[in-house]
Amino acid sequence: MSEKSCSTGGKRNEEKLIAGNWKMNGSLAANEALVRALLDGLGGDAGCDVAVCPPSIYLAQVRALLGASERIALGAQDVSQHENGAYTGDVSAAMLRDFGVRYAIVGHSERRQHQAESDTHVAIKVQRALAAGITPIVCVGETLAQREAGETEVIVKRQLAAVIHLNGHCISEIVVAYEPVWAIGTGRTATPEQAQAVHALLRAQLRAATDRADRVRILYGGSMNAANAASLLAQPDIDGGLIGGASLKAPDFLSIIAAAS
Ligand code: PEP
Repeated sequence: MSEKSCSTGGKRNEEKLIAGNWKMNGSLAANEALVRALLDGLGGDAGCDVAVCPPSIYLAQVRALLGASERIALGAQDVSQHENGAYTGDVSAAMLRDFGVRYAIVGHSERRQHQAESDTHVAIKVQRALAAGITPIVCVGETLAQREAGETEVIVKRQLAAVIHLNGHCISEIVVAYEPVWAIGTGRTATPEQAQAVHALLRAQLRAATDRADRVRILYGGSMNAANAASLLAQPDIDGGLIGGASLKAPDFLSIIAAAS
């Protein structure tokens, strides 16, 4: 890809990013209540970048609720690896872009597990998103068995390497999310030190691939909540959070945003 084709037009990433992954939750009524509560709670300036990632069927609704406001960006939970055509059920990067989607989660462990997404699929999806001007939030993370077998470093580096390999110089345009699988939705969080250690490994891997590695935001995800956010976000290589369960409750999500601001 040319330099132009992977540019998401992103500013320098000095602010933290807090992104809410709603997963397969919500309804027209619940989404409206949640978005209104978030906009009310945020006031003028959030002090960090904020995104919400509803199920794709609700992207248009949430886009309308967010209005022209830049306070909360819209994200998708996935993007097709195909550009267009006979791929029933898929949603392309260009379609997401049509609805003002700025971020797309790619390679979430739930998709790797339930939809058999491989490292190669994830790398192609990242390429599709970047080509459409969407910032992919690339999820990597080890299972509990892999951590206990001492394989954390090998696993996360392998997952990120596939993305780097296919996306070359565009790699500085991505967001990475370190999400230990054993911490997702379990209430069990990585300690700040455990998370920082993996984030530092990922940062080093990015530095070997690009001299712009310091602009790549590396988010932590896995049972981040109002109580543990501040200590995780204080780590030098934790540049934000990808939040599942706690992003569905406005007071909790707002507390995490406040901790990042
Ligand atoms: C996630 O799904 O990306 C996630 C981090 O979930 P939770 O915060 O619920 O662990």
